[in-house]
Amino acid sequence: MDRRSLLKKGVLAGAAVAASSALGTSSAQAVVTGKQIKWRMVTSWPPAFPILQTGVERFAKRVGELTGGRLSIQVYAGGELVPPLGVFDAVSSGSVQCGHSAAYYWAGKCNAAQWFTCVPFGMDAQGMNAWFYFGNGLKLWEEVYAPFNLIPRPAGNTGVQMGGWFNKKIESMDDFKGLKMRIPGLGGKVIAKAGGAVVLLPGGEIYTSLERGVIDATEWIGPCHDIRMGFYKVAKYYYYPGWHEPGSALELIMNKKAYEALPSDIRAALDTAASELNVQMLSEFETENAKALSQLKSFHKIRLLRFPDKVLEGLKVLAAETIEETASKDPQANKVNEDFMTFKKQLAAWNKISEKSYYDSML
Ligand code: CA
Repeated sequence: MDRRSLLKKGVLAGAAVAASSALGTSSAQAVVTGKQIKWRMVTSWPPAFPILQTGVERFAKRVGELTGGRLSIQVYAGGELVPPLGVFDAVSSGSVQCGHSAAYYWAGKCNAAQWFTCVPFGMDAQGMNAWFYFGNGLKLWEEVYAPFNLIPRPAGNTGVQMGGWFNKKIESMDDFKGLKMRIPGLGGKVIAKAGGAVVLLPGGEIYTSLERGVIDATEWIGPCHDIRMGFYKVAKYYYYPGWHEPGSALELIMNKKAYEALPSDIRAALDTAASELNVQMLSEFETENAKALSQLKSFHKIRLLRFPDKVLEGLKVLAAETIEETASKDPQANKVNEDFMTFKKQLAAWNKISEKSYYDSML
């Protein structure tokens, strides 16, 4: 960008600030005091929520360090500034400059967004990162979010989740018939296809619903977060693997105007800090899940069960149908799905002789 267009941009930006302060509203244009730029960041996570919210706070601090304090980010947990699921709109409209959330929450606004978090029987964290950084994943994600004035960056991953807590044993596909389960998203659609009654509940209501038999089963995240919810006290079986969320990617979303108004070194600092968060969040999930699983087994004596192979095969068939139906709703989702599946297929052939073969020999 040449100096003249930079100046022009600066004038426009200044006018935007003046207009918004005259109206008494916030705007996409960050508050600039002296040489320090101030951003506000909203998330979908409760205050101090382990790994997710604490990771985001570390990210904000890191951006400050990387920019020598020139970009300071004030983080707001879900509900503090906007509701947990208001993150997309807040960043898109520019009322805040960035946010941290998960793309599949926006399926109602943008069907294709789901593939950038995970799909049932999709890729794990390592596969998602390969697709984002060296496949077409991030390029497609940017394309899908462009109409919303959003710039996405991969910024964390939960790793393979758990299948969930059950008060009924799952021994065949028939056991899903009439099963009342709290499971959102595409995974929920698969359970519904299997004959289950899918119930949507906010986090705070799951425990009592399970205790009172309002639901027979629930998925949440993995051992680290599940142990804090106390589900082991009210559910008989803890099932694995989390076929519905094999590696849910988290997102950093930035308002396009706010991002593009930054000097290139600060933009690079944000990109770098996002990559760092991406690695660290997954690493923390792996570490904490392993610790919590050991605690659940040795102190709480949970009954850990693997879904039988025939059940996983049955779910995989229904998942493929669900994904196909969802993708066929619009050309953009179809394009993303095709690229995702092509990448996944090639990677799977490699992973079969690399990761899978190695794990089989190591464990
Ligand atoms: Ca989950």
